[in-house]
Amino acid sequence: MRKAIKPARVASDAPALAARVLALEGSSTVESSERIRAARAAGREVLALASGDPNIETHPAIIAAAHEAMQRGATHYGPVAGLPSLREAIAARLSERAGTAYGASEILVTPGGKFAMYAAVMAAVGAGDEVVIPDPAWVSYGPCVRLAGGVPVPLPALDGVEAERLAKALTPRTRMIIVNSPNNPSGRVLGRDELVGILELAVRHDLWLLFDQVYSELTFEPGDFVPLSSLAGAKARTFVVDSLSKTYGMTGWRLGYLALPEAAARPVEKLLQHSLYCVPPFLQAGAEAALALPRSVIDGYRERFGRRRDRAVAVLNRLPGIECAAPPATFYLFPRVSGDDKAVAAEWFERLSLAVLPGSAFGRAGAGHLRLSLACSDEVLEEALARLRRHYRVND
Ligand code: PMP
Repeated sequence: MRKAIKPARVASDAPALAARVLALEGSSTVESSERIRAARAAGREVLALASGDPNIETHPAIIAAAHEAMQRGATHYGPVAGLPSLREAIAARLSERAGTAYGASEILVTPGGKFAMYAAVMAAVGAGDEVVIPDPAWVSYGPCVRLAGGVPVPLPALDGVEAERLAKALTPRTRMIIVNSPNNPSGRVLGRDELVGILELAVRHDLWLLFDQVYSELTFEPGDFVPLSSLAGAKARTFVVDSLSKTYGMTGWRLGYLALPEAAARPVEKLLQHSLYCVPPFLQAGAEAALALPRSVIDGYRERFGRRRDRAVAVLNRLPGIECAAPPATFYLFPRVSGDDKAVAAEWFERLSLAVLPGSAFGRAGAGHLRLSLACSDEVLEEALARLRRHYRVND
């Protein structure tokens, strides 16, 4: 049982805040960005391999489309679920990738994948409901489940989700299983058998599945990525969370979407009506332009990350106490380190001014690892690798 949090005052002259907010853990990734910003503001030259924000400049065609939309007056409220033309374009792209047909009425445009996930959890999870989250996991799932009044149940799954283990984690209170493929922080892609195992249990226990595929365009081996919705019987119980952030370097545009069974779309739309209303229409025009770009644009971004991955893996494996497999997807590396991961990350920050995240920030199963992000420039990566080689006295 979690301890009840008493409402507390944040300042002597301010009224108390609600327990749900006071109990929230901060996001270690956002807080790391803030720490880096503060160190830089204090004049320190910090190299960051910490952020999930790819160093891709927004394509000029996307900016031109948003600009043009603003000029033609798309600066007012728009439809709550998103512009029909964008929902069509998303449905077409998703159907092509998901191996299952999605219609525009099954798409809700959201400010980023994060809000899509939040909306799905708020919609499906009630007070006391349990949500199984394979660990290590992106830092926002657990807190969003708590905001919905639910209970996150971590499932150790560093090397994969084992059906037997998952079955044991399910209780009569389980309501949802969150599946993230490719995975942040490990870069793992879930295999078909693994997904079938998860789906079978979800069907048997009548559970929702939340499938977060925001890194699915960043899979290095074509065909590696298996969309959960391609499995027979999955679509009717799956919330698909996706985003333009990682694929197109559009993190600041806050453009994502939730794909969900049509019967659920209308009730979830009401949640949007009463919260965000709509994603700014001129930004949605930018999203449409992004989806219309030739696929070769994304191939180019992926190749950049692939080159950086190969380079960094080769150097990291020469450092004593570090073992780094090349992940099949994402722009993250998740090397194993000897010793306490928090202590290693703190040492790199203090001694090398190099920011990375400790694996334990992503759950217990991440302990003993570091998450390095290659969403930086080639120059920053080279300088970071040079500092590490010097620190560990490894020759070039
Ligand atoms: N899912 C995962 C696994 C992520 O790592 C992130 C961002 N770090 C998101 C969803 C949300 O991204 P956004 O809100 O920018 O689309």
